[in-house]
Amino acid sequence: MPFAQVFGHRRLVSLLSRSIENDSLPPSLLFAGPAGVGKRVTAIAVAQALNCPKGSRFRVQGSGFAVPGSGFAVPGSGFTVPGSMFDACGTCAACKRISRGVHPDVPIVGPGDSGAIRIDQVREIVDRAAYRPFEGRRRVVIIDGADALVTAAQHALLKTLEEPPPSSVFILVTSRPDTLLATVLSRCPQLRFRPLAADDIAAALVARGYSESDALAVAATADGSLGQALAARADERVEARDVAQRVLAHAAATAEPGRRIDGAKELLIKTGAGGAGDREQLASHLRAMASLLRDVEVLATRADDRALANPDVRPALERLTGAYQGERGVRAFSAIDRALGALERNAGVKVVADWLVLQL
Ligand SMILES: [Zn+2]
Repeated sequence: MPFAQVFGHRRLVSLLSRSIENDSLPPSLLFAGPAGVGKRVTAIAVAQALNCPKGSRFRVQGSGFAVPGSGFAVPGSGFTVPGSMFDACGTCAACKRISRGVHPDVPIVGPGDSGAIRIDQVREIVDRAAYRPFEGRRRVVIIDGADALVTAAQHALLKTLEEPPPSSVFILVTSRPDTLLATVLSRCPQLRFRPLAADDIAAALVARGYSESDALAVAATADGSLGQALAARADERVEARDVAQRVLAHAAATAEPGRRIDGAKELLIKTGAGGAGDREQLASHLRAMASLLRDVEVLATRADDRALANPDVRPALERLTGAYQGERGVRAFSAIDRALGALERNAGVKVVADWLVLQL
């Protein structure tokens, strides 16, 4: 992800871009700030700008989703922010390998299963840094989650941070700089990343396919962290899908109305407060059901697997295919559609859920 695709942090990004262009980037840096705001992607953008063979001054482009007041927009189409900056192309082989973490000159070190960055991991990168880059111009060592460096590993880094080999840059990334040794901190100029503005988070979510209104709603409760916004959404989606799966399976297993209605209770999980929140909760379960039924149809017609919206739960989809392929699936799908319509017209959640399970 080049600089142009980093959301927010315009002042830091242009500072980094300028210093790369002027060849004045400090050889060791500390990116500090809350989790999930883009420190790591900015470090990757630095590595790309230093190594992209097509690196040059690019006009900063934005997209159709111009965020009012933020002065910045999603890269990639129409909307143009005046100005240009030195940046990587983001699309060449070197840029792609850097962003995937497989470029030989841009090692990304992080805590392993133990939760710590061990001294042997640090010794290895320090040794490697002594040699010239294999194929890039500059070796950029990114230590992500630098607060996980064990004390001995921090000591092992000290000398290298003080006098990095001429073609190497070290970037330490952390949300807890205060846990690092003072001697490490004093050797690394610190760039402070602030929480993202809600507008920037919304723009990033729209770039990932969220509708504008969904994006603004999620961004509003994300505490300035894009990572948190994405995680919260993903959790909710997984939960809604679990519920949907269980309700469909339950309805497939019994035709007896009383027992069907039991399944409706599941659909009403997390409701009860009353009002629009309840309706939105039920609607998210229903949308997840619709998405599963669409996938059942894909499997039943043996269409391309890549068309699946939920490929990660394929075994569960296959189990549902027996009951819901063909006409029954179509009926269920249209019942869900009607139920969503009823919720939009403010129908009560219990009435809608009870009605729906009897239609499945
Ligand atoms: Zn490139």
